[in-house]
Order: sequence, then structure tokens, then C-alpha cells
Amino acid sequence: MVGTVPIGSGHPIVPQTMCNTHTNDIEATVAQCIRMRDAGAALIRITCPGLTDVPHMAEIRRRLHEAGVETPLVADIHFSSATAIAVAPYVEKVRINPGNFHKDHAEACRQFAQLVQVCKKNGTAIRIGLNHGSLGQRITDLYGNTPEAMAKAAMEWLELCIQNDFYNVVVSLKSSNTIVMVQAYRLLAAAMQERGVVFPLHVGVTEAGNGDSGRIKSCVGISSLLSEGIGNTIRVSLTEDPVAEIPVARYLADRYDGRIGSSLVQVRVEGKKVQAVYEAPSRERLLLDASCDFGKRLLDREIDEVSFTGTYLDPDGNPIPVEKDGFGEYLADELLQAARRRFYKPEYIACPGCGRTMYNLQETFEQVKARTAHLKDVVIAVMGCIVNGPGEMADADWGYVGEGNHKVSIYKGKEPVLRHVPDTEAVDTLVRLIEEDRA
Ligand code: SF4
Repeated sequence: MVGTVPIGSGHPIVPQTMCNTHTNDIEATVAQCIRMRDAGAALIRITCPGLTDVPHMAEIRRRLHEAGVETPLVADIHFSSATAIAVAPYVEKVRINPGNFHKDHAEACRQFAQLVQVCKKNGTAIRIGLNHGSLGQRITDLYGNTPEAMAKAAMEWLELCIQNDFYNVVVSLKSSNTIVMVQAYRLLAAAMQERGVVFPLHVGVTEAGNGDSGRIKSCVGISSLLSEGIGNTIRVSLTEDPVAEIPVARYLADRYDGRIGSSLVQVRVEGKKVQAVYEAPSRERLLLDASCDFGKRLLDREIDEVSFTGTYLDPDGNPIPVEKDGFGEYLADELLQAARRRFYKPEYIACPGCGRTMYNLQETFEQVKARTAHLKDVVIAVMGCIVNGPGEMADADWGYVGEGNHKVSIYKGKEPVLRHVPDTEAVDTLVRLIEEDRA
């Protein structure tokens, strides 16, 4: 239970999202939470970077209750167990990566056990959120930076929960790589089954980007799991206004809870090639339906190619042929890239932004995409903060990481190659470095 919201089998899939306001801007955060609730978010996460933000969290919750908004709040904690412990009484859930609490594993375990006691006392749930790319040294030394490592790490923390007789726990194993995230959740589901325990899972593709690509990538990863009965709460992470995430998350929840079906009307199969015919009620719906109908099959290599025909309705209700202006081909290209079968453009990783973001992430991401569209076979990350960005951008070849104070660090792989680049020059510098490297 996260406040009044049950998460688990036998209950509807819970769509959630996260604020991208600064937590100390209480008015903006409250206003965004209300818009999220109105759009259909069942849980709302807010970043809580340090102890000084705990009173802000308490005040946000108080004002939301005053406004009649009872949507449970989740405090997002990255490193500080003290902050997690301090904020736990004021929210319905805390999201942590206990492996990052302390470099010494025994000390991290002790801090985690302390948090569990506080959560037990206050009826607060915990999300153990382990992202590919920020697993911590100990786990990667033992198992590598792999889906196996993610599942093993989760099982270690779940064992500690069991030892402490604490079951109000949900687990996430996110990655921006759809293959890695699907495999990690499948391994964890199997490991829990073997152990004879079932903890609910929070499923998402992290740093999925924006626009069509972000929606398609999220749907490919999340639907692959929901269609197997893996996943109880979901977040579609988009580098956009977080309210825009909710219709996509609602679509996935409705579809895998059986409230809606696909607009697919016919499938012709020739070997591993599929031709799909749609009669979709909108362009967006075609995109989501196609991602869920064929994403998993591409990801699991059951099929190699998919092409699209049929119609979708424009906003005035006129039927538009799917092939018009190359849309069908574009959709197939996007889907193959999201399932990591063929890369027709650079692969972008972009965090959704949160209260730690110190620059206009959405605008910068658009600039980076526009200036790098010609560079194929390269993975480019655009990350909102220097605290978590470098760790979270996982297997990116290049990274644009906001430092704050209008400065940017540029990363090549895991290493910063330039620091403190003025943000007015940073996109040019990134493009120059990538092009020089490829020359
Ligand atoms: S990387 Fe992005 S989403 Fe993650 S903490 Fe930093 S700003 Fe927030």
C-alpha cells in the first residue's frame, strides 16, 4: 500500500509520474501536482535532494491536502539515508537506491535497516530503485554492469526486507536500453519465484527521450513486460512536461488491465516479416498500438521486419493512409530502433528532468537532436544534473551534463573531457568533439 493506493497482483496497474519543479519552489510544485492529479496520475514523485528539502516536502503535502489532493507522494532520494529517514514520516513512499547509501556495504545495510524501521513505524512504503549505470561499485565488481547484476542486487535488498519483516516494498530495475531493462525484470521475476516471494514491480524505461521516440521506446519496454504479467506500477519517462507522460501511462495500464484493445485489424506474415493493417482512431493511438503489438516480438527476435498500412483519423476525423508522407516507414524505423534491432539515427538518452535540473533541459535536448541528427551509430545523452547524470547515462558514447550556473560538462563515455563549458557554447562544442572523433 502506498497510502491508499494498492500496488500488486489483483489490483489495477498504477500510472505514476514525477515533478520537474524545484522542490523548494513550493507553489510551482503544488500547482504541478494538481495538474498531474487532474490528468490521472495515481502517485506523484518529488525529488528530495537533501535534508533542507524535508520541510518543503512536508509543506507541499500539507498544501495538497488543504486543496483536497490526496494523491500519495513519493520522495525521490539518491544518496542520503539521513534524508530518506527524515522525510519518511511526511510521504507515502520513499524511493532509494540503498547501494548508494554508503560505499561500505555493511554500513549501507545498517542505514537501510534503520530506514525500514522508520517506514514500518509510519506506514511508509519503499521503492528500491536500481538503475543500470548506477548500481554501485560492489555489485558491478561482483556481477558486471549487467541485467543479472541488477536482479541480484535487488534480491539482496529484498532479503534484508524479509529479514526485517518489511513487505511494503516495490522494486524497479530501469535502463534506457530496452533489452537490458526487459531482461533485468524477467530475471528478477524468476529469482523471486524461485525464492518463493512476490514483491510488486515498478516498470519503466528510464531516460527514454521525448516525442514519438520516447513514447515508442517506453511502450516497447513496458508492454513487453506487462504482456507477461510483469509490472504493477509504471512510469513513462519523457523529457517533456510530466503531465504529457500520463496519457501514455494510462493507455498502457488500460490496455494491459484489459480495458482497451488494439486498432490492429489484420496481420500478414511471411517468414519473419510482418505486414500490419490498422484502423486507428488517431496518429498517437496508431503509434502506441503498433509499439505494443510488435515491440516485444522485435525485441525477442521472433520477427525481423514490420511494415504498416491502413488508416488513422486526423483531428477532424478524416481517414489518413498510414503510408502517407512516409509515416508507415518512419514508424517501422522508430520501432526497430526502440527494440534495438536497427539504428537509423543516433540513439538519444535524455533524463526527464527533476528538481535537480538547473537549465532548460527540454529546449537543449531539442537543439542537440537537431544538430546531431546526421550522426548515426552514436549514443548521445543529455542529462539534467551533474550529481546523477553521469552515473545514469549508462552506455552513452557522449554526454551533455548540466553542472548548474550556466555551465556544462561534456563526457566521452564515462570520462569528462571538458568541464565548465558555458552553456551558450556547449552544443557547438559537443557536436565539434563528436565530429572530430569520427573524422
Ligand atoms: S539525471 Fe535528470 S532526472 Fe536524474 S536526478 Fe539528475 S536532473 Fe533529475
